[in-house]
Amino acid sequence: MSRKLLVATHNSHKTSEIREILADHFDEVCDLADEPGAVPPEETGTTFAENSAIKALAVGGGREGVWVLADDSGLEVDALGGAPGVFSARYSGEGASDADNRARLLAELACPEHAESARTARFRCVLSLARDGEMVAQFDGAVEGRILAGERGCGGFGYDSLFVPEGFEESFGELPESVKNAISHRARALAKLREWLAAEAG
Ligand code: IMP
Repeated sequence: MSRKLLVATHNSHKTSEIREILADHFDEVCDLADEPGAVPPEETGTTFAENSAIKALAVGGGREGVWVLADDSGLEVDALGGAPGVFSARYSGEGASDADNRARLLAELACPEHAESARTARFRCVLSLARDGEMVAQFDGAVEGRILAGERGCGGFGYDSLFVPEGFEESFGELPESVKNAISHRARALAKLREWLAAEAG
């Protein structure tokens, strides 16, 4: 029987990363872009885990037999006490663009005590897997790094052009997609999901 995974997102970058990594577990991986009229739920949680569960359960309700995967992710900057955190997508206000959010991040860090060497940060991701409207399991992943003083590269999305992962000199915006997809917070959470699928779901 063909196995379908619905990813609870409109973000095609996330879907293509997930499709590539889970290709041998699902025959079809689609997302909300294929469902005109699908409205994402309000992210009212205070943690990535809560928001990820809210999305998986809201999108999964009423879809029998379909596996639903939701991702909630964001950037935590130590000098900003973990901000933007769960507000990463709307750091510069509701409906903010990625460019607006990057500009706000640079502005928040634009004082001497936030020198580039002290701008440690991490991307975090929590994946929620649901089926028949019920939570099945959650998986988390993180990638440590630092925030640049200015943008570098134009690949990826969100804060990629400002984030240099540990062990590299290039930003996620400069590194090839294949490198990001091997070490990213989402890749690490997806690796745990893959292990779980191999053990539990066959
Ligand atoms: P979400 O779609 O509610 O999970 O919000 C995630 C937000 O965090 C995105 O809009 C980006 O601003 C940021 N983010 C999450 N993952 C990444 C990534 O891989 N690269 C760059 N920014 C990311």
